[in-house]
This record gives sequence, C-alpha cells and structure tokens, in this order.
Amino acid sequence: MIRSLVPTTVSRSAGAEVACSSGLRTRGSTPLRFGRADNLGAVQELASIISERHNKRKSNSMPELLKPDLYAQEGTTSAPGYPSLKGARCAHCGFVFFPRQAYGCEVCGQAGDRLHPIALSGSGTLIASAEVHMHSNGATSGRTDVKALVAPFTIGMIKLDDGPTIRTILVEVNERNLKPGHRMVSHFIEVGSGPRRVLDIRFAPAS
Ligand SMILES: [Zn+2]
Repeated sequence: MIRSLVPTTVSRSAGAEVACSSGLRTRGSTPLRFGRADNLGAVQELASIISERHNKRKSNSMPELLKPDLYAQEGTTSAPGYPSLKGARCAHCGFVFFPRQAYGCEVCGQAGDRLHPIALSGSGTLIASAEVHMHSNGATSGRTDVKALVAPFTIGMIKLDDGPTIRTILVEVNERNLKPGHRMVSHFIEVGSGPRRVLDIRFAPAS
C-alpha cells in the first residue's frame, strides 16, 4: 500500500478558531486540495498567536542559564534543592577545583582525562564579605538582554562544602549582620531584561 501525505485543509469557523486536518490517504481515494481560508488575515493572526504562545511556553519552561559552563540547575544528593557548580576532581591526587579547566591539576600537574568533571553542591560557609559601592555597571555580562549589575551589592567568599572557595554575589543579606561562618546556599535569580528568562547564580544565607 502506497501512502501519501495529503495537504492540510484550513478553514475558519466560529470564534476565529481554525480547524486543521491532515493525515494519510491511500491511492485511489478522492484527492484533497488546499482549502482557501475565508479570511487569510484571521488565519495569519491565529498563527501568530499560536507561535507567540509556543515561544512563551518555551521561555517559561526552558530558562537560559547565563553561564552554563559554570553551573547547572540540578542539585547534588547532599544539596538537592540548590543549583550545583561545575567543578572537577583530579583522579591522581583528589584535588577538587572550580571552575573546570583543562590546563592541569594545580597540585600535581595531571591533565586530560585525569581531571574528572563533578558537580559541586551549592552550599558552603561564608569566609568574608564586602559591600560594593562603585561598580562599572553593565560590565558583568556584555549582553544587552541582561540587566546590568548596579551597585550597591554584596560580594562574598564562600568555602563550598565540596572544597573549593569561590567569590560570588550575595543576595538577601544585611551586610551589618553578615558574619563569617554563616551557612550559604545557591539560588538562581532572573537577570534577563527581555522576554526570555535568563538565570544567573547567587548565594544567600541558608534559612
Ligand atoms: Zn592532582
């Protein structure tokens, strides 16, 4: 049996909904022809709405990570609710580092496949913090669809539970009450300035 795809018939019905039919037919049956829309403008408008909804759904369900090389949405088994950081472990000496790099282990010099990618938990302990009052606004990402980082904001050094010490932007903090030793966890915040959701990582006090 030979199958062929029949053209789609488009027609306009009440409520500006468009019924579309497509399917397969066998040879010998009455061929279908392209239907002509009663109102081509309405069809185009509907197609536009469908496309817009599709894009909106896409942007809602699949936010873009600003720096996907550095972190991931998935947590780890020890901190499942918090975004993880993309680090690596040296298979030779066990040194854990962040971010991932291929130059070699800074402790023993091993490189290549001796450096294993691992996910680092988004949890750690605050070592120090500082409030930034002057900053070159907009220099953080170089993208026009991402909000500029505007001072004042707080940066912190955090020793991750998995080893490395990182420097990151803190949120939900009161600089006066912030003390070394505070437990901190990772969060995503929305940094996009356009219709698309763009997420970047921050650290906040653990509740
Ligand atoms: Zn090493």
